[in-house]
Amino acid sequence: MQMVVYSVLTFTMFGKYQSTVQERFIRYVQIDTQSDPHSTTIPSTEKQKNLSRLLVDELKQIGISDAHLDEWGYVYATIPATTDKIVPVICFCAHVDTSPDSSGCDVKPIIHKNYEGQDIVLPDDPTQVISTREYPYLKQKIGEDVITASGKTLLGADNKAGLAIIMDLANYLIQHAEVQHGTIKILFTPDEEIGRGVDKVDIQKLGASFGYTLDGGERGSFTDETFSADSALVTFHGISEHPGYSKGKLVNALKVAGAFLDLLPREEFSPETSEGREGFVHPVYVEGMVEKAKVEFIVRDFETRNLKLHEMRLEQFARQAVGKHPGSSYEFETKEQYRNMKEVINKYPQIEKYAAEAMQRANIKFKKQSARGGTDGSRLSFMGLPCPDIFTGEMAYHGKHEYVSIQDMQKSVEVLANLVQVWFERRLSEDEKTQPDFMIR
Ligand SMILES: [Zn+2]
Repeated sequence: MQMVVYSVLTFTMFGKYQSTVQERFIRYVQIDTQSDPHSTTIPSTEKQKNLSRLLVDELKQIGISDAHLDEWGYVYATIPATTDKIVPVICFCAHVDTSPDSSGCDVKPIIHKNYEGQDIVLPDDPTQVISTREYPYLKQKIGEDVITASGKTLLGADNKAGLAIIMDLANYLIQHAEVQHGTIKILFTPDEEIGRGVDKVDIQKLGASFGYTLDGGERGSFTDETFSADSALVTFHGISEHPGYSKGKLVNALKVAGAFLDLLPREEFSPETSEGREGFVHPVYVEGMVEKAKVEFIVRDFETRNLKLHEMRLEQFARQAVGKHPGSSYEFETKEQYRNMKEVINKYPQIEKYAAEAMQRANIKFKKQSARGGTDGSRLSFMGLPCPDIFTGEMAYHGKHEYVSIQDMQKSVEVLANLVQVWFERRLSEDEKTQPDFMIR
């Protein structure tokens, strides 16, 4: 019964609204915003600001007067509350940069209207085919309007879909002052794809209690869990001697490192043989000479406590390798990278509950997912802004096969419009009152 009432409400709520998500998306993807992991500047590439500046202009056109770009390339803006009641301030977040893995220069977006389920051959490079076999979600998009790139570049739906969705939400809410909601913050970050997206976020200035990133894939998906991550550095020491006169003296650190790598299991404990909730260790860089060799690892698991176990096991292999090469020695260091955001988000069950309700009101099946990686949300959550991820429809990230459905983006806007109202309606829920460290900023 409830669902019927809600869907009617939603229908009338969006009935006459002229969505701007498509035109915004088409505009944003044509601006090259590729980030660069080898750059030391902030943002890593100046061109990201071209899009950020446009977003500020558009926010001002919408009527959001405090929108601004800071020196680090972050956009902050506020959608003012339409109520005097105290409602937690929530933030919607997306990133402007695209992946360094594939060119983002001269993106030519193509709209495949009323998609019929065929494999999509990209015209500028017909060897690039988006097939339903490889991307089964495409089959669910039959009858919708699908946007792709033209074959030479990525599309940049990751994360320009998120930007377009948040911008359209702002446009909708400013035009519909009758929709009741608390203060909403908007945050657009640079350099997410190179892991620096939140380095310069000013959480104090942002002033939000909870956040949602808009960077997820399939309609209905909600991600509240990421890996916990450490890095590990194993350094082997050998003994260097003149190779012509070194019998019985020389110990080659490169051979110790080789023996060590050879001890790593292949059938498990490795990314290439892990999936689901399994963790792994993964060598990512080797450097060395006879005297000294280093091997860098990333260590991943959903359970933070398992990281220690993986690292002990890894160190055991280092010890064994050194044991086979008398005279050698090793050092073992680990560093924390990021933690599973679920550890924070679990303390505030309403973040998920309200998102689930917002999706239900839009007649969308809520699908909880775990990310086998990190997101800006994982770090934001530990910086004091619990921040799971909501779907945008962006699919096949980081490559030429990237695609997104316009209807998925529109649905995401509808979910956010519902979500801010759910937060308003539930402003004094028991959940919040019983959370000892709950704070309304
Ligand atoms: Zn992204």
